Amino acid sequence: MERRVRVRFAPSPTGALHMGGVRTALFNYLFAKKHGGDFLLRIEDTDQTRYVPGAEEYIQEALKWCGLIVDEGVGVGGDCGPYRQSERKPLYKQYALQLVESGNAYYSFDTAEELAAERAACEARKETFIYNAQSRTHLKNSLNMSAEEVEKALADGVPYVIRFKMPENEELELHDLIRGEVHFQTSLLDDKVLFKADGMPTYHLANVVDDHLMTISHVIRGEEWLPSMPLHVLLYKALGWEDTMPEFAHLPLILKPVGNGKLSKRDGNKMGFPVFPMAFTDPDTGEIWHGYKEDGYFPEAFVNMLALLGWNPGDGDEREIFTMDELIEMFSLERVKKAGARFDPEKTKWFNHKYLQMKDNAEIAEMMQEYLKADGIEFDNERLAMVCGLMKERVNFVKELYDECKFFFVAPTEYVEKDVKKFWKPESTELMKEFHALLSEQPVLSKEACDATINEWLAAKGLGYGKCMNPFRVAVIGYAKGPHMLDVAEIIGKEETLTRLQRAIDLFPTIIGQ
Ligand code: GLU
Repeated sequence: MERRVRVRFAPSPTGALHMGGVRTALFNYLFAKKHGGDFLLRIEDTDQTRYVPGAEEYIQEALKWCGLIVDEGVGVGGDCGPYRQSERKPLYKQYALQLVESGNAYYSFDTAEELAAERAACEARKETFIYNAQSRTHLKNSLNMSAEEVEKALADGVPYVIRFKMPENEELELHDLIRGEVHFQTSLLDDKVLFKADGMPTYHLANVVDDHLMTISHVIRGEEWLPSMPLHVLLYKALGWEDTMPEFAHLPLILKPVGNGKLSKRDGNKMGFPVFPMAFTDPDTGEIWHGYKEDGYFPEAFVNMLALLGWNPGDGDEREIFTMDELIEMFSLERVKKAGARFDPEKTKWFNHKYLQMKDNAEIAEMMQEYLKADGIEFDNERLAMVCGLMKERVNFVKELYDECKFFFVAPTEYVEKDVKKFWKPESTELMKEFHALLSEQPVLSKEACDATINEWLAAKGLGYGKCMNPFRVAVIGYAKGPHMLDVAEIIGKEETLTRLQRAIDLFPTIIGQ
């Protein structure tokens, strides 16, 4: 029988969720939905020292904003709960003990001081201390103690951790769905702690136990977890769960826009782009991090950009814009590459630009009203939608659109002097007076209604279009940029257009020293 696809996103609540984490969640989600399976959210909070208040809520909000709907897990519930590891604390110990019992793990009673001394001694010999098959033979652990000694130490409450007994000198050939065969030599691995002195499991034990109990079919996670794969596979074997062990897929790193290395949260603030889906204030340091949401990105654009970080739709398929449904349909782990994927902040803006173009003008107008209201400006939705239609091609963000469109809503109070000087020539004053008169005679102003009349009038004078439209533009807009002036006039209306033009006729001669 085909196994039901069940994947999980398992972040640790140690701060805001980095966009690399969101990409992991996205690929898990796409894989689950593609195969009609379940997408779980498990919070891995076994390391209480790294817990950051608010991080868990942040993770849930961020997933929601991106449209990644959790089927089962924290905040949703389900049959395999609880889904927060700190609430599962009582169930891990039995598995650690089972491993001790079967000889796959052992008690280690070494104190922090003793381990520090070992480390120092190794350093003095220019070696690195590793708790492994060699060193474990002379350290304070149950492998070197009699059963009675161990029992006594436990009864006396001597603090201990439980370590995995890494097999010696085994060559492991493991399969990764993205990387193919991956080889590990167990002699290079250490005896990882599985269970801590505080009664909590470590990430490794809790992760494997939970993936098993939650019947996870595929573990899809970042490349930084690849070194943990041999331990996890050995744990499945040691616990007798090899038959139902999930398949593994380790996603490529997300690289800095320039130079080498993994994209870090510091890169964002340094280079001026967000690395987090939503803004976040670190409760400890007060540090403020930008978010895609607050910076005006559409979630669809953000998700689309992330989907292409390490995945592509296939050879010869040049498409770059995908809805979530299209992504679900096309996604496959075979098309995820193993090489690091370079993040490009400019391309991310391009995605936002594309999504802005696809939006309905009325919808953009609705979003723009927020900025208008904040500035106490009233402008009806219908005309605002016309503004959006006319101007959206020029911008990447709604806020940018608002800034570029200000002249539609309020008459210029200042004029760009160099533009005035460049386009308002001494003869422009007279020409604009005549133009004012010509426009006054038109019942409505628009390209359709008066472009022909204007052209005729200019032709009779032997003047080009620019001679009239350039001074007209600086008069109405305040600078020498913007859409067709008759489109502007149509939207702001005849009366407002003429008022602005008259003001320039009165003011500009002084500016140009006429
Ligand atoms: N808690 C780990 C993290 O923070 C999960 C890694 C995994 O998916 O196994 O990324």
